[in-house]
Amino acid sequence: DDDRLIVSFGEMLIDFVPTVSGVSLAEAPGFIKAAGGAPANVAIAVARLGGRAAFMGKLGDDEFGHMLAAILRENGVSDAGVTFDSGARTALAFVTLRSDGEREFMFYRNPSADMLLTPAELDLDLIRRAKVFHYGSISLITDPCRSSHLKAMEVAKEAGVLLSYDPNLRLPLWPSEADAKEQIMRIWDQADVIKVSDVELEFLTGKDSLEDEVALTLWRPTLKLLLVTLGEKGCKYYTKDYRGTVDAFTVKQVDTTGAGDAFVGALLCKLVDDISILQDEKRLREALRFANACGGITTTKKGAIPALPTIAEALALVEN
Ligand code: ADP
Repeated sequence: DDDRLIVSFGEMLIDFVPTVSGVSLAEAPGFIKAAGGAPANVAIAVARLGGRAAFMGKLGDDEFGHMLAAILRENGVSDAGVTFDSGARTALAFVTLRSDGEREFMFYRNPSADMLLTPAELDLDLIRRAKVFHYGSISLITDPCRSSHLKAMEVAKEAGVLLSYDPNLRLPLWPSEADAKEQIMRIWDQADVIKVSDVELEFLTGKDSLEDEVALTLWRPTLKLLLVTLGEKGCKYYTKDYRGTVDAFTVKQVDTTGAGDAFVGALLCKLVDDISILQDEKRLREALRFANACGGITTTKKGAIPALPTIAEALALVEN
């Protein structure tokens, strides 16, 4: 039933990751390919937890695009909202976590198919049918995809669909800090649920402290829930009535890729089941504990999609 449909919108691409860890891109002896893109990870996280998920976005009509669509389907995610660009190629990323802890990216976006999504190509019916519409910014928001993203959110809002947003900031990819802030805040002002990492919060507020006052400068009357993920420290939550912290689970961290996406997917599953948890702090905390468990499990394995938990794995951690 569409009653539980979560549509995740934004980028899906191929990540080329070094075959050995802790090297720069230039030092990598070779690469393996993995499906990536935060909103695609969220959609697969939802499906793996037993939810109903569809992905919306644009891919190239090339081997990579068709490989990605197949990965969605194999993982139980509908690809009905995917369009293929006959001219431009699928977005590609080379990404590594260097030994100094910094993430290094190199993108193929010259332009890639996702940047060429036009408003006319949006599956408006799919958006309207969703119970939750999740949007993860792509890192280069220029027209036509800028207009498409804004239109998709406008349509979701008009239809009364719960709007979830993850800015998914990778600053080096934006034309400027000012542009990143402006684009992000434009969507921020419309969203019902927002998840940011502590690093993104610092960037958006310009302050390197996580005091509640800092997060609350980003509070909007339109917001129903603001979440700040804190890695091994769990997450903070803010609603108009209450705020607090939910501790993470103790896990053996191997690779944090996808942890935030698993967290979002898990929370959206809880919200789609019962939106009224937003009004009940105790039940919201239970949902966030579940989301923390899903994020935590994802850090215990390499990669994003292969590491996303099943509902059985998530419940095993939550209930122990
Ligand atoms: P993001 O990918 O958005 O930066 P985080 O790295 O903060 O997100 O991870 C998202 C969630 O995953 C955290 O809120 C936490 O619940 C869980 N998590 C991440 N890293 C760890 C860790 N080392 N130990 C336990 N849980 C973790």
